[in-house]
Amino acid sequence: MINLLDEVKQLKLTIEESNSILILTHTSPDGDALGSVVALKEIIQKMGKTPECLLDDTPPNRFPHLTGEFTVSQSVTQCYDLVILVDCADRTRTGVTYPAPKTLACIDHHISNPKDMDINIVNPSASATAEIVYSLLSIWEIQCDAFIASAIYTGILTDTGGFLFTNTTKRTHEIVAKLLEYPFDRNKITRISFLEKSMTYSILYAHLFDTLTELKEIKTVIGFIDYETYTKYETTTDDTDGLSGALRNISGIECAVLLTEREKGIIKGSIRTNESIDANQLAQLFGGGGHMRAAGFKTTKTVTEIKETIYERLSSCQ
Ligand code: 5GP
Ligand code: MN
Repeated sequence: MINLLDEVKQLKLTIEESNSILILTHTSPDGDALGSVVALKEIIQKMGKTPECLLDDTPPNRFPHLTGEFTVSQSVTQCYDLVILVDCADRTRTGVTYPAPKTLACIDHHISNPKDMDINIVNPSASATAEIVYSLLSIWEIQCDAFIASAIYTGILTDTGGFLFTNTTKRTHEIVAKLLEYPFDRNKITRISFLEKSMTYSILYAHLFDTLTELKEIKTVIGFIDYETYTKYETTTDDTDGLSGALRNISGIECAVLLTEREKGIIKGSIRTNESIDANQLAQLFGGGGHMRAAGFKTTKTVTEIKETIYERLSSCQ
């Protein structure tokens, strides 16, 4: 069994010994991914090092306070001493190729994380990876500041759905209470995270309900945004954020699946569940993963095949 504290101390030593550090996260980064990376970068800078942060695509517009830190590139040739994967359980999900570093580390909270890197700081009980990043501060004896606090707060706020999801714990609230001692605009972060929605979001929201398949026996709804619709409204990932959660909130529903054809022939699945269904296990049927209540996947299977696979799995568990 991996001792988390030992892994955290090991990462500190490795950072101190490394001359080149790269921080990566998953493709289509959310608030937790961006907040955790930005906070970690600041923390490592306070240790006298200058890590680089890379994304495979331009960061979403939704979090302008978190996007100034990134270089966009899908491949690097430099061999880094240390690469840290943040909020990313699957090595291939960064969308970035890079030569094998001396040390590969991960900081993550996905239950699907195989913990197969050189250093594994993985805690599925953490509501957000940003919660784990917060814990590094005291163990590494680094002073928090308003910028780090705002980045960590964004990660926790978004991954807990504004403290509504079941992953929200006493510790989550305790950490947030500490973060709020620092001066940053939390009302603005709430607004950009949840309240403000693009016009495209609203158009897609309305459209989605016309596409819904309800599988009553398994208490499941499946919605589909096809490629033509996705491109017609020049949709970005910001515009679909929250749609799968909206489907889960239909009364009587245990499982909601949003299928989005962002690229022709490739379907991104977002699964959200309530009390009785393990979203991570369902996503793994399609090579994806995530958490008990929220998980995702990418597949070249057709919508019909996906529906059949979900129906078969969930009806056999009834
Ligand atoms: P979302 O549906 O919002 O994209 O993702 C829900 C959760 O599942 C997030 O924690 C996300 O990181 C994870 N997730 C989404 N897509 C994938 C995937 O293709 N593979 C894995 N391993 N996790 C995913
Ligand atoms: Mn996360």
